[in-house]
Amino acid sequence: PKGGKKMKKLLVVSLFVLCIVFALGKTYKVGTEATFPPFEYVENGEIVGFDVDLIKAIAEAEGFDVEFVDMSFDSLIPALVSGNIDIVIAAMTINEERAEVVDFSDPYWTANQSVVVKGGSGKGLTVLFGDNSIGAQTGTTGDLWIEEELQNTGILTGQVKRYESFVLAFTDLENENVDALVLDEPVAERYAKDRNVDIVGLILTNEEYGIAINKDNKALLESINNGLEKLEDS
Ligand code: GLN
Repeated sequence: PKGGKKMKKLLVVSLFVLCIVFALGKTYKVGTEATFPPFEYVENGEIVGFDVDLIKAIAEAEGFDVEFVDMSFDSLIPALVSGNIDIVIAAMTINEERAEVVDFSDPYWTANQSVVVKGGSGKGLTVLFGDNSIGAQTGTTGDLWIEEELQNTGILTGQVKRYESFVLAFTDLENENVDALVLDEPVAERYAKDRNVDIVGLILTNEEYGIAINKDNKALLESINNGLEKLEDS
């Protein structure tokens, strides 16, 4: 009958509208650690940076919304696994250990590690040897590198200082409370622009950054990779 056809049409149209509303309405919580310029940092009370722009552009391309949550770097993966956040974008290096517990998008950046000392201190790469104190952000690949390559090998006999925030780490470096920091090169370069520090060495770790997603959310992983691809194509 005619009425049935109309009803069917109406149903299809409303389902379609509902799908759009649903797709547009979804807001994902994005975890980051905002002391990592130029990728994520706070400016005028707002979290900004390359990663922020990137995930916003992906969200726009894929039709979802994002909301940022700032936390310590080492709590990002636990928060993702427990479902407190949906996405991590934090200049996070894709490595085996992390990939066992979370999924990573296709890589979007490549970086190495830098060794940074106080400006004008005259310290060089030998700062990594012997009885010096070396700092890194807790749970980062820089932290891991110090432990594996310097501490476990006995090259470094001094202490390793672990920081929650890079702002604090750089202040400690300027105040001579730590002899050197190991961190991602683009970020070291950025801090070196307005802090009294010198970059004295590069460690070629050849790391790739990825966006992390809970392993139970393959649809979101696919959507993020789609968004990345669209952005790269354009
Ligand atoms: N790329 C490094 C890592 O994944 C540092 C990231 C960061 O400190 N935000 O460990």
